Amino acid sequence: MPRSHDAPEMQVTPLESFPPFEKWDDWVEYDAKAWPRKVEKHYTLVPTTCFNCEAACGLVAYIDKETSEIQKLEGNPYHPGSRGKNCAKGPATLNQIQDPQRILYPLKRVGPRGSGQFERTTWDHVLDVFAAQIRKALVAGNKTDVMYHVGRPGHDGYMDRVLQSWGVDGHNSHTNVCSAAARLGYALWSGADRPSPDHENSKFMLLLSSHLETGHYFNPHAQRIIEGKMRGAKIAVIDVRLSNTASMADWWLATWPGTEAMLLLAFANVILSEKLYDRAFLETWVNWRDWLEHVDPAAPKTFDGFLASLTARYARYTTAAASKECGIEESVIEDIAREIGKAQSRFATHVWRNAASGNEGGWQVARCLQFLCVLVGAVGAEGGTLLNTQSKFVPPPFLKPPAQNAWNELLYPREWPLSHHELSYLLPHLLLDGRGKIGTYFTRVYNPVWTNPDGMLWEQVLRNEDLIGLHAALTPTWNETAQYADYVLPMGHGAERHDLMSTETHGAKWIGFRQPVQRVMAERAGKKVEATYETNPGEVWEEDEFWISLSWRIDPDGSLGIRKYYESPYRPGQKITVDEYYGWIFENSVPGLPAEAKKLGMTPLEYMRRHGAFLVDKDVYDSHMRALSPKELEGTTTDAATSTVLAAGKPAGVVADGAPRVGFATPTKRLELWSRTMHEWGWPEYATPEYISSHIDRRPMDRAKGEMCLVPTFRLPTLIHTRSGNSKWLYELSNTNPVWIHPEDAERMGLVTGDLMRISTRIGHFVNKAWVTEGLRPGIVACSHHLGRWRLFDDIGTDKWASALVRRDELGDGRFRFRRLEDIKPFASSDSDSKRIWWTDGGVHQNLTFPVQPDPISGMHCWHQAVTVEPARVDDQYGDVEVDTKKSMDIYREWMKKARPGPGPGGLRRPMHFARAVKPSAEAYRMT
Ligand code: SF4
Repeated sequence: MPRSHDAPEMQVTPLESFPPFEKWDDWVEYDAKAWPRKVEKHYTLVPTTCFNCEAACGLVAYIDKETSEIQKLEGNPYHPGSRGKNCAKGPATLNQIQDPQRILYPLKRVGPRGSGQFERTTWDHVLDVFAAQIRKALVAGNKTDVMYHVGRPGHDGYMDRVLQSWGVDGHNSHTNVCSAAARLGYALWSGADRPSPDHENSKFMLLLSSHLETGHYFNPHAQRIIEGKMRGAKIAVIDVRLSNTASMADWWLATWPGTEAMLLLAFANVILSEKLYDRAFLETWVNWRDWLEHVDPAAPKTFDGFLASLTARYARYTTAAASKECGIEESVIEDIAREIGKAQSRFATHVWRNAASGNEGGWQVARCLQFLCVLVGAVGAEGGTLLNTQSKFVPPPFLKPPAQNAWNELLYPREWPLSHHELSYLLPHLLLDGRGKIGTYFTRVYNPVWTNPDGMLWEQVLRNEDLIGLHAALTPTWNETAQYADYVLPMGHGAERHDLMSTETHGAKWIGFRQPVQRVMAERAGKKVEATYETNPGEVWEEDEFWISLSWRIDPDGSLGIRKYYESPYRPGQKITVDEYYGWIFENSVPGLPAEAKKLGMTPLEYMRRHGAFLVDKDVYDSHMRALSPKELEGTTTDAATSTVLAAGKPAGVVADGAPRVGFATPTKRLELWSRTMHEWGWPEYATPEYISSHIDRRPMDRAKGEMCLVPTFRLPTLIHTRSGNSKWLYELSNTNPVWIHPEDAERMGLVTGDLMRISTRIGHFVNKAWVTEGLRPGIVACSHHLGRWRLFDDIGTDKWASALVRRDELGDGRFRFRRLEDIKPFASSDSDSKRIWWTDGGVHQNLTFPVQPDPISGMHCWHQAVTVEPARVDDQYGDVEVDTKKSMDIYREWMKKARPGPGPGGLRRPMHFARAVKPSAEAYRMT
């Protein structure tokens, strides 16, 4: 493909079939429907960013110049993360846009909450209602009355700025049903709470998740894992289930669920005992003196003394013990440990969700995995495991509001001072416990009734107007939660909105610009567009403009000090536009972008609108080795004995290779093998990497009685968390989630594939079909968590492509049952495909039957369940879900007792050096 004069560097592999950049304004293809005649169709190509997972891959919309309709969405080869490739969910954005059932106008509830009765309203009314309520709370000084609860953010930092401009502590997320455990395990080492493996340059990859099909940063990682493999790297996968990744790996290690940390420590033992570690890296970058002081005070106070002590300490994690605990052969454990030792700094690893999110103590999986990286010097190295801070770039916007001076205990309850982050899924339990109320509640691309454990408790509080005063569901599509809202506010899909995103996909930093493609097309054609809803279907807004308008209406005269954050930096006193918001960022906060744009005769905003992404930095390795600048060194001293740079007596850097270096974002500036934070905040026994036995330990289970471990943490590659419901292509691909069961267990119970089975948890049960397979261990059952969508009403609730109509029965004494009334079936709509639906199943919802199980330290919901499995009983029907909400609260309290509440040292609610979503002022950290 020829390079255009203004084409940026195409990433790695030119796609021969991709339109040359200089033809993006007028790309011609023959109309497939006119075949065999050759009828030309002319398209304008507009880049945007996929919104269907967190990876933020590039997309390009082909917009028909005659009809202004989007014909298709394909990959953007100039996007540094995805390089022109997408998974099935990217192109399926088109289904979401064209879905005949999508919500096109703002809706207001007219019957009781949950009655399904809504009427169309105006955006003006919506702004008036919410602005008045929020203003009232702010004027009264109530900084915890407003809560914004987000599922898929899709942007970096925009809402933090909005909430801080209001001065409220109101950001809630979905993190604790997703990644809280892994975040804590990583943060304790380096201050960075997630890894960024450099798969393509690695020699050995150890993956704890199904990366090639669904793992974190799925498509960008999957392509680089395969590139690494094609260059000779070997792969080991630890997963209880035979995933696509496991099937492509050199080793598939199907551990017993919850024992993964033990296996990782057995690798560490082999590396230590066979001296396969990187001695120089350990000596410089690990806080080994702290180890000697606190873990082994009797050991010689030398680095050799430390190595001997460390080796002795982890010698108890023998391959024999790990083999017995995890179910993996000793020789395999030794082989993999030696491969890690051989790879040295080119050892790339990753865990996200998977074992970390399934188990009590799962955070130690990340802690122990990173321990291996530390031992072989792979942290931050080329081909190794980078930190997210090395390869994510978040440019600051203009005029940052100050940190809020408030702490909302509904977000960060005192029982979990080390949680990562908000105890989001406990919100109903905390509300029902009398710990607070919410005046204004926004849910945004968030479906807690369906996504979270204990959904029936969510339903209870969402119906309760005393606990939640006013609820707006900001969503592009119907879901199980939106039907309980007071207002349902339609927001744009991925190609109908602005956002700025960067994800840590590999050893580089980039930003991706999501933009409303039809607005861009209209502007290219010379049309003046004031707001994105003018070019979106119906009255679909984009959040950026909604929040600007709402904030302006909360503080119309600026007296609350809010309005100034929404005034244009270019036109004093005037309301900012999205062009100005992002234009300012691109001009002022993205190094290299203004110069690159200038070369092409463009403004930085024009560049991003044309290309959709920008590579900020390729040289991101070894960021801990950055030399401290003369300014940073002002007023510092150096402790020669420990090679530590000190500022006001505290570590500010590390001397390495003869120069003062910035080091890591920890209190010691080193990688913290011994964690003072854990020691001082009530968990001294876990100050070092250890193995914690999971809540689903197999020993107490009696398989003869059907007691097994349910693994519900895997997803299907073609489904979006809770936003596939309006995608006909995706549901045609994946529409059933039977329960995986090993032939040995199936035979014992007399089950064959397709038989109904009842799975009972501590608060209820669900009835689903069996799928007999050797793709998992005996003693385990597994069920994908992306299916089982339901709706209570024919026309509202989840889309008909995906949901079964159900009846909700109150059985008394806090017990509920959902029973399927209708399967998925064809329906009439403006899309003729809706009459061609051939699938009927749709799967079974399991999360409703899960009690909350908050890890006592990370706050992660421990997803794995100890269950009883049996053939379905006589009255059981496919899709039945029954729950006892009284038991829910008991189990919540039972798990909460395991936590060790703050405050910590200095009366703090949380360590100041820990990340916190929308960080408040230092004053707010002090518990009064
Ligand atoms: S991996 Fe995620 S961001 Fe990329 S195309 Fe698939 S859904 Fe979209």
